[in-house]
Amino acid sequence: MLTVRNLRVRYGRSVAALHGLDLDVPDDGVLAVLGSNGAGKSTLLRTLSGTLRMHRGEVVEGEVRYGDRRIDRLDPAAIVGLGIVGVPEGRQIFARMSVDENLRAGGIGARSAAERAEAKQRVHELFPVLAERAGQRAGLLSGGEQQMLAIGRALMSSPRLLLLDEPSLGLAPKIVERIAATIREIHAQGTAVVLVEQNAVMALAVADTAVVLEVGSVALAGSAAELAGSEEVQRLYLGGH
Ligand code: ATP
Repeated sequence: MLTVRNLRVRYGRSVAALHGLDLDVPDDGVLAVLGSNGAGKSTLLRTLSGTLRMHRGEVVEGEVRYGDRRIDRLDPAAIVGLGIVGVPEGRQIFARMSVDENLRAGGIGARSAAERAEAKQRVHELFPVLAERAGQRAGLLSGGEQQMLAIGRALMSSPRLLLLDEPSLGLAPKIVERIAATIREIHAQGTAVVLVEQNAVMALAVADTAVVLEVGSVALAGSAAELAGSEEVQRLYLGGH
């Protein structure tokens, strides 16, 4: 279980990006994090993955625990070592490297060659296109395929908790559906997921619980079904009136 308690993050002297955020992600859960631009979604994910602390001048207070371990003071490599792996917004694949080299880069932390091979087979089953295009430069893949590669690369280290930052961004509806189905499959195979999305329809269809962030704290929380039915979510995120 991932637990976040009273998390406060400030960038230098600017106003707080998160102020007093609480949330829980069970080991078998998919949590959707919704919210408009600037609500603090990326800041939350960067804090969870430890990448925030690589920058300078941020102030982080509060507590993030994974199981019984405190992780809010760990560096990104230590957090990956615990099985928490992020897929950053905008994918950030290695465009000049081949598809297969990208996957191999994701598997560097694997304990053995056998574990790496097994992870790659799972990724290829999930995304056959990554096997078909193994030797091709990653930068030549379509946007959707690049998102699949970014997720596949994260899966190469067999994470227990996957952090996804807007995987549907800029993708056609059909591809978004495909990504959504894959997230369900990854979850069914035993990986918990934190899914940050502007696409509330997709996120609430995939998640079992959800939170809505508003200016740095949780404005609404509940089951995905409850939130999908809430008037406020309907009005703000689902195009209802
Ligand atoms: P978006 O959907 O637009 O990415 P978000 O919900 O992910 O938004 P964040 O990117 O976490 O929101 O931003 C939260 C707040 O923190 C915003 O007010 C933003 O301007 C500020 N912020 C984010 N990154 C930095 C930074 N590196 N330095 C200073 N302020 C920042």
